Amino acid sequence: MKEKNKTVPFLDLRITNTEDRQKLLNVIEKVMTHGRFIMGPEVELLEEKIAAYIDMPYAICVNSGTDALYLALRSVGVGPGDEVITTALSWIATANAIALCGATPVFADISDDLNIDPASVASLITKKTKAIMPVHYTGKVCDMYSLNDIANRYDITVIEDASQAFGASLYGKRAGSYGDLSCFSLNPMKVFGALGEAGVILTRSSALQQRLISLRYNGMENREVCHEPSLNGRIDTLQAAILLVRLDSVETTIEKRNAIAQIYNNAISEYVITPCIMKDERHAFYTYTIQTDDRKKLIQYLEEAGIEVKIRDSILMPNQPAYKTEIHGKLTNSERIINRLLSIPIHEKMTEKDAVYVTNSIIDFFRS
Ligand SMILES: *Cc1c(COP(=O)(O)O)cnc(C)c1O
Repeated sequence: MKEKNKTVPFLDLRITNTEDRQKLLNVIEKVMTHGRFIMGPEVELLEEKIAAYIDMPYAICVNSGTDALYLALRSVGVGPGDEVITTALSWIATANAIALCGATPVFADISDDLNIDPASVASLITKKTKAIMPVHYTGKVCDMYSLNDIANRYDITVIEDASQAFGASLYGKRAGSYGDLSCFSLNPMKVFGALGEAGVILTRSSALQQRLISLRYNGMENREVCHEPSLNGRIDTLQAAILLVRLDSVETTIEKRNAIAQIYNNAISEYVITPCIMKDERHAFYTYTIQTDDRKKLIQYLEEAGIEVKIRDSILMPNQPAYKTEIHGKLTNSERIINRLLSIPIHEKMTEKDAVYVTNSIIDFFRS
């Protein structure tokens, strides 16, 4: 049944469409002409557009998702002695941002949907808990209503790590609009990405916006007075200009990813656990991640068929050498699920035929 020489890459970031290419070249020209390579006019325009898209009052563009998380935590005063509750399952930048502030990351268990379990969060609250940092893992919005309830009860800040969920929503309300602050990585792998490193922080407070603008540039005010030590986290104007172009097609991108996901869900749910998509929910499908006990053999089978698959986060953050000694709750679900996760190709360049080739290959594997 395997087609000879057919390949489906996990992701293809090359810009091959001539029209897309020209649009990007045009804005690069424009930036070269005005010459304001850092914090040029494109940055402010991008901040306005992202704030409007997510429906948050203020956006502050920075130079990576990691810096976005770090600076957001700093802006609300997270520091030594504080605990920040986050999920056990994420890209390591989430925990690193907390630790770099001098605070202690506290790891909560996940639910079957791979997102942080609010009940586990509630069990980990202490007097030291300063913030909760949920991650919309794979591009699926967390149970933000329960998390916000807990946060309100204990007067704790919520900072969303929405890096994987640009454009995802629940009941029409977008990821990144639930917390006090939210952060996105805009690196090229993300659903909405630059041609290099980039990130953005959103907030509903003008005081936090002002503090973030200062923290983004060495804690300076007007290049004269330094209020507190920080890093240089400013975004390149070129990346902002590129992101402005790409913002126009982000809706189409997400639609295409959802169409592939629909084909997958319809065809393989009998054989593996597929992502659940609720009514009134829009998934961003940063990754399409399945759960299976036969992971090792399935990887081998699919790779032989020319289908590139990946284990995105192979180790739970609390099990990383860097975090072995940190606090965590019972990680029953996380420990059960971590060795069963597998991400299969999903991106805008995939055709329906590619998707059917993937599902047929998976079905062949389980039938043989
Ligand atoms: C990509 C990602 C980050 C880090 O973003 P960078 O822009 O690569 O620094 C943080 N958290 C999550 C969940 C991510 O997926």
